Amino acid sequence: MLKLMAQITFVGILLMLFAVVSPVNATDFATADARFQALTSDQDKMIWVEQYEPEIGQWPVLDQAYFYHRKGLALEVNDDINGAIEQFNHAIELFKSLNEIDPGLVTSLLDLAYMKYLQSNDTKVYCPDRKEAVAVARKIDHPEALAGSLVQLAFCYQNGFDELSQGLAVLTEAAEVVQKNNLSHSQLAMIYNATGNLYRANQVHQPAYEYYQKAHQLWLNMDDTQDVFNMLHNMANEAVELGHWQLAESHVNDLFNMADKHTDFSDFEFFAEFNAGRLAIAQKDFKQAVAGFEAALALRDTTPEQYFIKVAESQLAIAHFRLGQYDQAFQAADNYLADIADINADTTAQQAVIIQLYAQQKTEQALQKLWELFDKTEANKRLFVKNAVALQSLSFSETIDALQNQASQHQLAINELLLKQQQKQTRINQLTAIVVGLFALVAIVIAWFLYRAKKHYQIRAQTDYLTHIANRRHIIQEGRRLLQHCQQRRLNFSIIIIDIDDFKPINDDYGHAVGDVVIQQVVKSMCAGLNDDQMLGRIGGEEFLLLLPNVNKGRAHGIAETIRQQVAETMILVENVQLKITVSLGVASNQPPVATFEKLLRRADEAMYQAKTGGKNQVQPTHPVAKSL
Ligand code: GH3
Ligand code: MG
Ligand code: MG
Repeated sequence: MLKLMAQITFVGILLMLFAVVSPVNATDFATADARFQALTSDQDKMIWVEQYEPEIGQWPVLDQAYFYHRKGLALEVNDDINGAIEQFNHAIELFKSLNEIDPGLVTSLLDLAYMKYLQSNDTKVYCPDRKEAVAVARKIDHPEALAGSLVQLAFCYQNGFDELSQGLAVLTEAAEVVQKNNLSHSQLAMIYNATGNLYRANQVHQPAYEYYQKAHQLWLNMDDTQDVFNMLHNMANEAVELGHWQLAESHVNDLFNMADKHTDFSDFEFFAEFNAGRLAIAQKDFKQAVAGFEAALALRDTTPEQYFIKVAESQLAIAHFRLGQYDQAFQAADNYLADIADINADTTAQQAVIIQLYAQQKTEQALQKLWELFDKTEANKRLFVKNAVALQSLSFSETIDALQNQASQHQLAINELLLKQQQKQTRINQLTAIVVGLFALVAIVIAWFLYRAKKHYQIRAQTDYLTHIANRRHIIQEGRRLLQHCQQRRLNFSIIIIDIDDFKPINDDYGHAVGDVVIQQVVKSMCAGLNDDQMLGRIGGEEFLLLLPNVNKGRAHGIAETIRQQVAETMILVENVQLKITVSLGVASNQPPVATFEKLLRRADEAMYQAKTGGKNQVQPTHPVAKSL
């Protein structure tokens, strides 16, 4: 019994010792990873990280590197993009510290690039990591990693036509790798997706749509919900670009159905609403567009895709603007521009700036921006035509032969003829769009200038060419209006007629030109003391009419006297000749009230005549004994 006890104790001690000294008893990475791969809940993945992180110090460096990669994935699904970037970088650092390159490095680089894509949507930011991933995969001769990284890299060649052939070459190599190594359908679907992207980036929408459709079908067979949804999103976009409204509508419906069905995918609804908005704006149903983009933006926190949030904001501004809802348009444009670094970067930003300026009533600046946008559109058009010509001379034949021999089953037919034909059609569509756009732009500009011209000519038609004060027609019209206005409100109303004394001799002695300057100088001197509501006009050669609303007879006389003195005291200097000018003034008030302005004018004229006969350089009021008025 004792012996047995001793044996049990011995075994127990042995076991305890074993447990203390040997790390083997702790979980190794393979076991831990098997558990990680089986997890479906995002939260559980974080719990997994917390559970294993204390142990990893005992793991080999390679396993540690894999652990940090998985931690990055866990943070990614929990929407901590910055945290994920940090972990992927950590994993990459550890992978690189090893003597032997591991395919995990490729995966980490690609996942890091994807995080950077989500954050920036800028190829300059996320593509260097993809290039490095391709280089690493090539070096270790790992077909799966190479095909995967090539496909990812192909997304980097979307900056214009010049990159199209590079992108297609990258996809060709990817297709070759898939073919040679019998890789999965998922890889092929990604190649189709990437091919669609390349075509789309070059505005060749028909094949773009078809490749998305092929990828969609493959992913549907594989039950890959996220990718099926992404392809529907792309197909909806291409259908809109092609103007296939019914097709686009059916894809938008599919997106909504998927959003309803897969509530665990948090941003499906955002994208469904976004696509509904995009379709509506293309169909010029701006009310519907506002509804779609507003619904999408209300869900902005459900998606990490900043780029689409910004697009939604800009489109919302445009939709509001097109509905004439300027306040809302201004608000949306403001939101959109709030964190756009370079407002000249694209035409969408410029449109938002124009909306903003328009809303602030800075119409001149808005017009200026409109012209800049016009110039940019012009430049794009030129570039497009250049590309179209270049495309026709571009030879894809070698690539196509190789591809068709090796990958014809995959139907990745980069067909030169199709491409040419499509590009031609696209060119026609684009030129049509540009022409229509230019027409709209020109119409706006013409309307603007007509408005300005109308205003300009209206003012010119009312202005005396020599003195720039009101001309006879205008001052008399205004006189009639003001008389009526004052009568209705029982206000006083007076007028003064002013005639330059002995003007004829000035013309005779010094010439007509000097006479003109004298008229201008006298007007200047008369205007000096006038209020804003008092108006001076020229009713004859050297005869003027002053309208004085809300001024009684006494005050009118005072004003006339001031003018007389002002003119008399002003020494007029013309071509070294000093002239002293005087004026005679006739004052008339609407007391007793007159029936018409013309009668008041006659009163003032008679008074002025009396001033002349009374010796000039004087003011005469209307004689109290008025004639039959
Ligand atoms: P009085 O003070 O008594 O009215 O004498 P007056 O010389 O002013 O006489 P009258 O009204 O007959 O002469 C006006 C002259 O003004 C006649 C015309 O040649 C001249 N005149 C009319 N329009 C213009 C003009 O636009 N420029 C110039 N320089 N002279 C003009
Ligand atoms: Mg005169
Ligand atoms: Mg006269």
